[in-house]
Amino acid sequence: MIRLKKIVAIMMSISVCTTFTVGCSKKEDNKQEVKADKLKIEKVEKPSTGIVSDGKGWQLWDKEGHTTTDKRGAVGENAVVASGKYEASQAGLEIIEAGGNAVDAAVATGFALCVVEPNATGIAGGGCMVIRNQNGDSTYIDFRETAPSAANPYMWNLDSEGIVIDKANESGGKSVAVPGQVAGLIYAFEKYGSGNLTLEEVMTPAINLAQNGYYVTPSLLKDMLSVEEMMEKYPELKKLILNKDGSYYKVGDLYKSEELANTLKLIAKEGKDAFYTGEIAKSIVDSAKKYGGIITLEDLKNYKVVESKPVEGTYRGKKIISSSLPSSGGTHVIQSLNILENFDMSKYGLYSAERFHLLSETFKMVYADRAEYMGDKEFISVPEKGLLSKDYAKVLASKIDMNKSKVPTKDDPWIYEHEDTTHYSVADKDGNIVTATQTINWTFGSGVVVDDYGFILNNEISDFSTDVNSPNCVDGGKKPLSSMSPTVILNEDNTPFMVLGSPGGSRIIPAITQVISNVIDYNMSIQDAIDAYRMYDNTEDKIVYEDGLDKQAVEKLKSMGHQVEQYEEGYNKYFGGVQAVVYDNGKLIGGADSRRDGKAEAN
Ligand code: GLU
Repeated sequence: MIRLKKIVAIMMSISVCTTFTVGCSKKEDNKQEVKADKLKIEKVEKPSTGIVSDGKGWQLWDKEGHTTTDKRGAVGENAVVASGKYEASQAGLEIIEAGGNAVDAAVATGFALCVVEPNATGIAGGGCMVIRNQNGDSTYIDFRETAPSAANPYMWNLDSEGIVIDKANESGGKSVAVPGQVAGLIYAFEKYGSGNLTLEEVMTPAINLAQNGYYVTPSLLKDMLSVEEMMEKYPELKKLILNKDGSYYKVGDLYKSEELANTLKLIAKEGKDAFYTGEIAKSIVDSAKKYGGIITLEDLKNYKVVESKPVEGTYRGKKIISSSLPSSGGTHVIQSLNILENFDMSKYGLYSAERFHLLSETFKMVYADRAEYMGDKEFISVPEKGLLSKDYAKVLASKIDMNKSKVPTKDDPWIYEHEDTTHYSVADKDGNIVTATQTINWTFGSGVVVDDYGFILNNEISDFSTDVNSPNCVDGGKKPLSSMSPTVILNEDNTPFMVLGSPGGSRIIPAITQVISNVIDYNMSIQDAIDAYRMYDNTEDKIVYEDGLDKQAVEKLKSMGHQVEQYEEGYNKYFGGVQAVVYDNGKLIGGADSRRDGKAEAN
């Protein structure tokens, strides 16, 4: 399954990334007949407007143009792809049907998302991926963007309040980090793909989507309408957002990009060098430079994907495998679950004051640790084992007063650093799993478009802290701290149980934690667990909730000392976009998030 997602308002800003998950019950050694002739690029004549629909009763928006919230899931016996876009989920399934394995499918989905979700991801972004292969081995592929070599902690002009002048770290050339997306997907394909298909074949669905078009959805249009100011600052963006006559697209209009199709064809033919060296690289450097960028040809040429072990933990007997640094996501999801494990969650109602209080107290402590200790461990020492330790979590859990909201006080994860919580798991022979989150960071990234090639540069530099004393301050070659948490969960006997991930910036960690708890503590189906309303809290001691709390619960939380604020009524993509798959007695059950355009597809 695949999943993709979303948009997140962080203060005044919008943050976007996409996540997808592929679950597949095929064995990779069981090579399929290759039906690559299905993957030819054809000029398909499509109507100029249409609706995203699976032809089986599901459609993404209703007659009034409102996004529908039902039928996002899918059940299969062979494979499920759950992503933030129907077309990208289909791309993955198409590759499975053509003889690819779960990694081939994920790569196809990843590239397709770069086309159909330009607001959230793109070939000049980055991400991370957890793969659990047919041998039961798990690996973590980090293709996070990297700060250009000329970056340093003192590169910002700050005003008297310490804010970067002109928000140069948030948009424009200086916000651009060296992209990892193309290198990451190709690395995964070459090392873990089935070998049954060529790169051109797995990229064909993405190329087709760019060339033949895809329909503008209500949520994409909303994002297009939200960047008017950015288009004035970086006029090349208009070419991507507006029709040739300067008008906005409408919901249901076909969006095509011949330029992006050509760029993808070049990458498909020549491999990653087509992106990291040569004319495209030169154009990336020039486009960023035009708006103050410091990225160089050398930076692009030197970009390296890093493969390492994912972080591991357990929750009530289930094994959790997730992203390690430079994403803080996996560590803090496991840390949150370790704290919650000390409480019998199931005795509290889903929308009770007690549960929201527990989640709030937990996330506050976790976010305090994130700010205190986390950053790129190539540059600083991080007490990763301590943060993952059950004993450390016990100390934190013991600080929770069930009657009172507290300001998190510091403890020391370093003393738990000697513990080995990262056992290598051997999973059973059924099931290859890929879960990945990818992003250009905020909506339409830095706003800087690589002219003639049809893509936008990321603004991942804004994920660094501008405080020179922060472990997450910017530096040349350093990776900004992420919250992306692509996660695989196994049963005690190492058989696959569940796989999930989400976009949503700093809401990712709480969203993933809540969905896992919904399934494990409350026995919810995956779709119900995704559909349940969510809350968010960080160190600011304010519970921001989506919906679900009644007046009494709100009053009770206030009487405990919490500030409580409803974000907006009903679902909101601020709270992420979880796409997931659960393995259930030979069936693969995909769940997708209607907070964004998520849709699972199965066969
Ligand atoms: N850049 C964010 C991160 O790496 C993700 C942005 C989003 O989810 O919208 O944590």
